[in-house]
Amino acid sequence: MHDDSFRSLIQSFITDIESITNTLSPESGSALARPCAFLRIGMIRAEVCEPPREDSVWKCENFMMFDCGNADASNELTISKSTKTGTDFIYHICGISGEQPWSDEEKNDIGILIDLLFANNEKSRLMMSNYRLTFFDQDMQVSNIKYYFKSMAELIRKGLINQYTAMYFNLRKFSGINMRLGQKQGSKVMRKFIHHIADIAGEGNTVSRFGGDNFAILCKHEYTDTVLDALMGTAVTYNEETGDRIIVSAYVGIYVVTDDMPVHSTDDVIEGAAIALAIAKRYSKDNHAFFNAEMQEKHNHQLLIHSQFPNALENEEFVVYYQPKVSTETYRIVGAEALCRWKHNGRIIPPNEFIPVLERGMDICKLDLYMLDHVCRDIRRWLDEGRDAVKVSVNLSRRHLSDSDLLKHIVEIIDRNELPHEYIEIELTETTSEVEFQNLRRVIDGLQEEGITTSVDDFGVGYSFLTLIKDLPWDTLKIDKSLIPEAEQSDQKKEALLKYVIGMSKEIGLECIAEGVETKEQEALLKTTSCNSTQGFYCDKPLPTTEFETRLDNYDYQK
Ligand code: C2E
Ligand code: MG
Ligand code: MG
Repeated sequence: MHDDSFRSLIQSFITDIESITNTLSPESGSALARPCAFLRIGMIRAEVCEPPREDSVWKCENFMMFDCGNADASNELTISKSTKTGTDFIYHICGISGEQPWSDEEKNDIGILIDLLFANNEKSRLMMSNYRLTFFDQDMQVSNIKYYFKSMAELIRKGLINQYTAMYFNLRKFSGINMRLGQKQGSKVMRKFIHHIADIAGEGNTVSRFGGDNFAILCKHEYTDTVLDALMGTAVTYNEETGDRIIVSAYVGIYVVTDDMPVHSTDDVIEGAAIALAIAKRYSKDNHAFFNAEMQEKHNHQLLIHSQFPNALENEEFVVYYQPKVSTETYRIVGAEALCRWKHNGRIIPPNEFIPVLERGMDICKLDLYMLDHVCRDIRRWLDEGRDAVKVSVNLSRRHLSDSDLLKHIVEIIDRNELPHEYIEIELTETTSEVEFQNLRRVIDGLQEEGITTSVDDFGVGYSFLTLIKDLPWDTLKIDKSLIPEAEQSDQKKEALLKYVIGMSKEIGLECIAEGVETKEQEALLKTTSCNSTQGFYCDKPLPTTEFETRLDNYDYQK
């Protein structure tokens, strides 16, 4: 009779316990209640001890699985089990207060119950450690990117995501902190900082490491400001004894999910926050940026350009427009600048819509060399047709400067078109960094040796110094529109500056050309300053090839 009842209890216990996800928890209580009542058990607790790993100490943890609230601590049975990997499970089983001690038969049955419990506990432990390995960053002791996506997907599925803010952040200058404090202390500081962020981000937040010094957080809207404040700079104590502290801060891209910006997938949010982070790093003085619809549109536009570029280049959708350069003395054409236009789906797209996008990658280099090739072909044809061909300047993005084969590419293109080198000029803008300056010197020196002239484009836009320009063998200074006085108002200061720049540049042996000349008055002023030539709407807009060819044939710009 006892055996039959026990057997049927055990059978239902097996079914019940298998449906429990984490058997190393009080969740098991529901499955254990009946067999425990039958065996007069008041409490079952497992002490799980992991064998030593790096730090030579056993790590033990206690898991309460059943407690009737009336256990008798003086009547305790201890049963030890070991897994194949050396983890010890020590089960502490107590009787119920006021009850007799167990008989040998009962102890035997308790042994059977514990055997079954152990099999399930071990399964749970393996699942938990698998879960940890999958979703946890051991080093930072926070969740990882997989967990972040999982939590967000859950919020989206439950329709709760619109209560949350996602922030994607990158710690600022953390390599400097590592260098100053050492790798180990650096990691400790990072861990403390991240845990502080998690502590202040309200209930139900998720802070995850995406790798290296990149992290993300999901928190309720009302915690956005608090978290952002902390991310903008928090003092972290790295030496408890001395109290020495260091400030840790981050660049942050913020995506506040609202009903106005519906979210369909985790990618929507993460991509949005990543776009905002890129903007925060590049443009924001505050080191953070909130994602908005305008950013999304801009981003989509950029993606479209990048994706369409290879085909457009292959199909020769990029065309050269030529803007004449006119002598202030003879009013004759003395050269031209090649400017790119994109003929796409019946529309002519101006360069400011695609050049800055292409300049963010290396595609611009392909386009510039394509332009050079097309310019060389045109000039070769003009020469073959017996036209008075002029020197044409081609714009070269600064992106090329790191290419050690740039000079070889340029010369190869000009030579392939059998064009004398003096028909080509290369326009480059000034540089800001020392590394770029050294690269620029290498390129300009090389071009000079090949008999290819160079010009400084947009002089006057940045912090221009003639003294810096004198250190490189430039041929021409292109004075930007912004240095030329507007026609309507006489601007004494600007006029003086313009005269000074032209005077100085001529003194150091540079030719001068003024860009963006729009009026007769500007043209006249430039003539008095002995600027060699002008380029601007006053003489001509950038022209398609056939129209430009009419200017080559003895065209007189005197008006
Ligand atoms: P940029 O090299 O400084 O070219 C001069 C720009 O000023 C041209 O704009 C030209 O159309 C414009 N411009 C000329 N005269 C006037 C005027 O009187 N008034 C005003 N307001 N503007 C005038 P565009 O063609 O739109 O080109 C803009 C910029 O795009 C260029 O500035 C250059 O930086 C870049 N770009 C154009 N084509 C290429 C190319 O093939 N490669 C590279 N890397 N950049 C290019
Ligand atoms: Mg230019
Ligand atoms: Mg320019």
